[in-house]
Order: sequence, then C-alpha cells, then structure tokens
Amino acid sequence: MTGTRMTYRSHAGTAPVTGAVLVAVVGPPGAGKSTVVRCLAAEFGLPVFRLREAVRARPELLGGLAPSGDPLGWVGLEAVRRVLRATFLDRGFGVGYSAVLLDNFPGTAEQLALLAEIGEATCARVTLLELDADAPTVMNRIVQRRVCLVCGPDPHTPAVPAADDPLRCRSCQTVLARRDTDRPRLHAGRLARYTANRPEIANCAAERGIPHVVVNADTTMSEVCRAAQRAVSRLIESAESPGSRP
Ligand SMILES: [Zn+2]
Repeated sequence: MTGTRMTYRSHAGTAPVTGAVLVAVVGPPGAGKSTVVRCLAAEFGLPVFRLREAVRARPELLGGLAPSGDPLGWVGLEAVRRVLRATFLDRGFGVGYSAVLLDNFPGTAEQLALLAEIGEATCARVTLLELDADAPTVMNRIVQRRVCLVCGPDPHTPAVPAADDPLRCRSCQTVLARRDTDRPRLHAGRLARYTANRPEIANCAAERGIPHVVVNADTTMSEVCRAAQRAVSRLIESAESPGSRP
C-alpha cells in the first residue's frame, strides 16, 4: 500500500475523524474523466473506484435484484447501495490512503446521497470534482478516442496509440476500436442523461455541504490533468486543516 494514513478533524472541529477524501469525478461523457482519473491516480498514488468494475467483480451482490433493464447499462440504486457498502464498509477500500478517486461516479443525486452515507459511516469526506466541457470539446474527444480490446483490462480505458500508426495500440499493435458506448446514439443518450442529472447532483452537494470543484475541461488534456491535480491537492489539504474549505 502506498499513500499516507492521516488523522484530521472534521471541519466542525469537534470530533477526530480518520478516512480518505472521496473524490467523486463527474462530467459529460467525452470530457476526459477516465484520462484525468488515470493521471490523478498516477500522480498521487491513489486507488480508483469504478462502479462498473466493482459490479463485475462481485456479481453475487446483485443476487435477488431484477436486472435494471436500462438501455444505457446502468445498475439500479439498490445494487449501487450494496456495491458501495461491500467495497467501502466491508472491504475497507481506501483505508490508509489520503484520498480515493471515484471515476464517473455518482451519476445521479441519489447515488451521491448514498456516497455521503458511506462517507459518514467511514469518517471520510466526500468531495465532487466536476469536469466542465462544452459540446464541441465533447464531440471532438468522442470522435478521436479509441480503446484496445486486447490490452484491457477495462475496455473503456483510453488506449495509447503507436507513435508510427495512430490507429494501432502502442503495446500490442492491435487495431484500435471505437468504444461501444461512443456510438452516436448511445453517446447522445448518455450526454442527455448527464445534462439532466447534473443540476440535481450539484444541488445535492450544496445541500449536504459537499465541496464541489469545477475544472474547465475545454483545454488540452495535459492542462485539464494539471488543473485537476491542483484541485485534488486543495481538496486533500482542506480536509486536513479544519475550518478551511476549497
Ligand atoms: Zn493493445
């Protein structure tokens, strides 16, 4: 395990709390969330929670639940509740780290409320890092991004193309593929859902006093990553120093 275990006081200054800062990374599909999360994880040595992977790793948690039937592939709220509890309460995911990154989570205000419950139960501080990208940025990134179906481990992870052939994977030379969820109709559905849910997520954060930091994602990905690194540094620092807010 890398990272630092730390003890800090809640911003109320009354009870000593221990636990990671839970950095929930949200933004429209195509804003660059996966890339930013990968940069942050590498820069700070942080673990990453991905709902999709957690569900795939623990299918037994969904026992007794009807399939969600969601055409965009989302799991239902009770399934999310079970997965969060199993991951953070039962397994202690993130214990000993200064922060945990949540890639593309929450997708709804209800999911953020569930995460806030986890934060209370584990004395972790929930924070929201939003990538704000306009429509041209999102379309441009969607059109350009490719994945390697051979290298994985997650077929959603953006691939690194070969230097001499941008259509092939740098690692295995396989021809890169469009991401399945980037097909125009699926992407439009995902974007519409994010646009509809985003105000409620922001409201939920405001009501619960969850720090909400917005990073402009309309610049180059390296600049977006640097801005996100500065934001996460501030979120971790403010959790360590009672009374201050980012
Ligand atoms: Zn590959």
